Amino acid sequence: MGNRLSGKVAVVTGGNRGIGRAIAERLAEEEAAVVVGDVLGEPGTAGGSVEGLVFLPLDVTKEVSVRAFVDEVLQRFGKIDILVNNAGIVIHKSIDEQTVDDWDRLMAVNLRGPFLMTKYVAPEMRRIGSGAIVNIGSVEGFMVNPWHTAYAAAKAGVHGLTLGLAVDLGPDGIRCNTVCPGWIDTDLNRSYVEMHPDRRLIERELGQLHPVGRIGSPKDIANAVLWLASDESSFVSGEMIAVDGARTKKISLPAILDEEYRAKLSKLTL
Ligand code: NAP
Repeated sequence: MGNRLSGKVAVVTGGNRGIGRAIAERLAEEEAAVVVGDVLGEPGTAGGSVEGLVFLPLDVTKEVSVRAFVDEVLQRFGKIDILVNNAGIVIHKSIDEQTVDDWDRLMAVNLRGPFLMTKYVAPEMRRIGSGAIVNIGSVEGFMVNPWHTAYAAAKAGVHGLTLGLAVDLGPDGIRCNTVCPGWIDTDLNRSYVEMHPDRRLIERELGQLHPVGRIGSPKDIANAVLWLASDESSFVSGEMIAVDGARTKKISLPAILDEEYRAKLSKLTL
């Protein structure tokens, strides 16, 4: 608990659960006024009322919804200092199975959403002469899991959007950065783990993919977002920051050559 965001107004998309909820709570802990925008519009099914957070309905894919949401936030709070573009979905299908509707839906949430939110929030940040936009990209903007072509394409798009916004909005005092999570324990990929009969084995193996010996938690991402949203990072813009326990920094080796390393890691993950 601190006051690093005292006096700031923050908007977090897709904050009903998972990473978005952790971000919203972390920013609120630092005294920001936090508005969560989500398709459900209220914390109802996602965990009851939450102290310090305001929930408003938002579908990031729809321009009319984004405009109404931004207007409502301005009416209630008068300004927006921080925008966290977090809402996202994943589709786990081969290119043959993927339909045009699948592709369009994923692009609409994961890429059109951050564009639309920024389009309507940036003028308000320009008006007050400062702002911090933090997108949630993914390590899958750099590397990719099988059957994630659309997801990887959208996340690489978010990384490109970040570069463009940092350059275009920098002269207005607005910074834009992206946090790229690795494997984080949320509903988004829990079902993937649950598909496997031996859940403990999968969890152990997942941990061993990470040099730090574990998968990430939503709070790990929230702490990185907090830093990028705060003035402590005032000279950082246009960056893609991986928060992945060094998973993407380790070059794969044949299992037999990797045995000693994995044995060491298994002591951490057991
Ligand atoms: P999650 O648990 O599935 O939560 C996603 C949230 O986004 C939900 O609250 C969902 O609402 C909301 N949402 C979906 N479509 C929306 C829309 N059209 N408008 C507004 N909100 C919408 O996922 P998560 O794991 O927290 O993921 C959050 C972000 O991190 C995503 O951008 C994801 O791609 C990224 N990420 C996650 C991981 C990971 O390992 N979990 C790794 C890399 C990147 P409902 O509750 O109504 O569905």
